[in-house]
Amino acid sequence: MTVDELHRARQEYDALVARGLELDLTRGKPSPRQLDLANAMLEQPVGAVSAAGVDLRNYGGLEGLPELRAIFADALQVPVDQLLAAGNSSLELMHDAVVFALLGVVPGAERRWADVEGLTFLCPVPGYDRHFGICERFGIRMIPVPMTPEGPDLDVVERLVAGDPAIKGMWCVPKYSNPDGTVYSDETVRRLAAMETAAPDFRIFWDNAYAVHHLTDTETGIAGLLALAAGHGHPDRVFVFGSSSKITFAGAGVAFFGSSPANLEWWLSHTVKRSIGPDKLNQLRHVQFLRDADGLRTHMRNLADLIRPKFEAVDKILSAELGGTGLASWTSPAGGYFITLQVPPGCARAVVAKAKEAGIALTPAGASHPYGDDPDDRVIRIAPTFPELPEVEAAISAVATCVRLVAAEKAVAG
Ligand code: PLP
Repeated sequence: MTVDELHRARQEYDALVARGLELDLTRGKPSPRQLDLANAMLEQPVGAVSAAGVDLRNYGGLEGLPELRAIFADALQVPVDQLLAAGNSSLELMHDAVVFALLGVVPGAERRWADVEGLTFLCPVPGYDRHFGICERFGIRMIPVPMTPEGPDLDVVERLVAGDPAIKGMWCVPKYSNPDGTVYSDETVRRLAAMETAAPDFRIFWDNAYAVHHLTDTETGIAGLLALAAGHGHPDRVFVFGSSSKITFAGAGVAFFGSSPANLEWWLSHTVKRSIGPDKLNQLRHVQFLRDADGLRTHMRNLADLIRPKFEAVDKILSAELGGTGLASWTSPAGGYFITLQVPPGCARAVVAKAKEAGIALTPAGASHPYGDDPDDRVIRIAPTFPELPEVEAAISAVATCVRLVAAEKAVAG
């Protein structure tokens, strides 16, 4: 990198700042046009009676509507009778699962997790900041585990869980993971199901948030962890989570919890104390709108048609502006909501700061790591779904300008 190149990068950046842009790539939210595709739900439900003739306007039905659970059972790889439909947020269910395990005794446990010295979760990185936020909130120690193209590095995971009984949990986003879009390989899932853990009450928090969020016509499948774990003699190892937040309405979807019969009994023994039943009218609304698994599939294809051009634009612009420079690499996921941009070590924070000065909001560097600490300072999460296409294009081009400037400044400073 020469002084001339630095000079050029600065000029480009100054011109960018002068444009006074105001763009936002932080929000992993559906765009208004995506939400519009579910607007029929605003006129639903028509009527208020379930398939079994239950009046859904009243209390009760803690397990959720069976006909809705049937629509999502295949997608989440959980038998209908082991899948519950709950409120509007799966994050809430994950939070509750941790709290219930802290304050109650999960099946197979000797004591409450609150009484475990050095209670620890494994955290594949890069990962989802809100998972890490739950751990931080409750003082649960987090150990980062590197991601590989096949999922978390199982050599590391197997060694850690075999040696430390205080490791009680692990976060996983197995399909189109947040933020790098990784799909866990069958072998990764098999090893997670089969591995020996020092803790008899070890739980995998299987957050299958993007189970049906394909960007192409290929519906990528993964191995079914719940069934595999049972087959390997660990029936209670898995808590499955999912929701329709990024399918129907992000603020008014339905969340799901799936697990073994023993875990479900434990779960319901806690939830029965906090609720007399979920919003079954919203669940009926979802049944009437999606109809069945095929209806869900068709709706996801329609959503993908809106999202795909944005992901393609990011890839195209990054290739044109940074391809072959050695300054960045990025993921091209086949589904999900995010792209991970990797910049040279020690540059991510500076790129995010420069982008901010130029009016482009990016997720804080480090957010994809426990305690907000990316030790290499390399990872930047890009969320292209919410802004309209021209805004995505302008914002990504601006980010490329920032990457070039930060890299040039660093190279010239030596
Ligand atoms: N899990 C993952 C991996 C996510 O990326 C998100 C949202 O971005 C959520 C859960 C939130 O899900 P919900 O809206 O069901 O609470």
